[in-house]
Amino acid sequence: MFDWGNWVIQTVIAAFFISGFVVFSNQGLAALENKRKQLGFLTNFREPVVATSFIFAMAGFCELAQYWNPSNEAAYLNWALYILFMPLLRNVVRPVEYSIRCLGILVFWIANNNVRNPLFYLSLVFIAVILGFIYRWRREINRSWLIRMEVVLWIALDFWLQQTQMTVISVAMSVVMFLLVNIFTMFYWSSERITELERHQLEQRVNRDELTRVGSFFAFKSDSLTKIGIARSEDAPLTLLMFDIDYFKAVNDTYGHMAGNHILAKTAMLIATELKQYPQLQPSFYRTGGEEFNIIFMADAADTLFAAKAIQKRIRQHQFHFENQTITVTLSMGVTALTRDDMSFEDVYERADQNLYLSKQGGRDQITVEGQSIA
Ligand code: GH3
Ligand code: MG
Ligand code: MG
Repeated sequence: MFDWGNWVIQTVIAAFFISGFVVFSNQGLAALENKRKQLGFLTNFREPVVATSFIFAMAGFCELAQYWNPSNEAAYLNWALYILFMPLLRNVVRPVEYSIRCLGILVFWIANNNVRNPLFYLSLVFIAVILGFIYRWRREINRSWLIRMEVVLWIALDFWLQQTQMTVISVAMSVVMFLLVNIFTMFYWSSERITELERHQLEQRVNRDELTRVGSFFAFKSDSLTKIGIARSEDAPLTLLMFDIDYFKAVNDTYGHMAGNHILAKTAMLIATELKQYPQLQPSFYRTGGEEFNIIFMADAADTLFAAKAIQKRIRQHQFHFENQTITVTLSMGVTALTRDDMSFEDVYERADQNLYLSKQGGRDQITVEGQSIA
């Protein structure tokens, strides 16, 4: 006789347990991701290792629970199925990580099925197809709840249909349990995704500087962590160019704050246009203070100097017009490259700032590279 009461309880508990798993793992992974950005190359491998270990540990827990508490076997197996399969839909899972997770699934399959049953081998073929399908069409599956539910159904059927020791009703209700749990968590996930989207829009807004339309200080801080991480892990060069408009206070005092604003916006525009000529340097341009800007190049310092000089010349020669007045300004620059000894981006930033200071000390309208004035 099928125990309906127990089935309902198991289903409800499984749904909440798995929602907890989803939140915990999503937030944990997001925290790891942030940490990776802060620490650079050291943690590039940590995120997939931690995520995969966590998934395997949870699946292992379900496996143990099943032996200790066989009356709830169906729920534990469904938890394990969810934990092993659904995180594969994350877009960040890379091929090596994906393969290791697939191996975990194989182990789970062997541990929980009768390998002497010919159905087992048929189910293995199906599982390979499902895993291939998930790998190839992750995006589509994530986008459509219908396709997703279809994949969920395949997984459930593939696993539960070979449990020939169980009654038909138990197999059927185990499949239904897996479907219900997935529907529940999908609703949960989609509401979480909406929050994520809103957060993304907000981020877009804070990433751009209102006046100059170049990257904001917020974007600079965040990108600098990402870029230093890339430079470190790929052993690629990174150069920071910091510059500041000379005697800008005098411009404001003489021509007014609005004229100052005009010059700031126009200067940023001219430089952004100039930078388009150097795509090989991969420049990212930010306004990091009142009249202070930074450009991060993914290039050696020596290779960026041509661009730095061109920018300096462009601004020096430009005649800014504001309310029938013609105004000219100059830039002081500090340039420095990332070194192996730099503990963090702060070290690079401080050096660029010192170089900029030397340019100011040396009479302004200058470029200082690693302590040496070059123009
Ligand atoms: P230095 O050559 O040493 O850089 O001299 P400076 O006058 O440029 O430097 P200081 O730091 O003394 O003054 C910067 C001025 O920039 C002061 C501030 O009023 C002006 N400023 C900062 N942000 C804005 C802005 O958004 N608009 C305008 N118009 N002025 C700004
Ligand atoms: Mg200034
Ligand atoms: Mg300044």
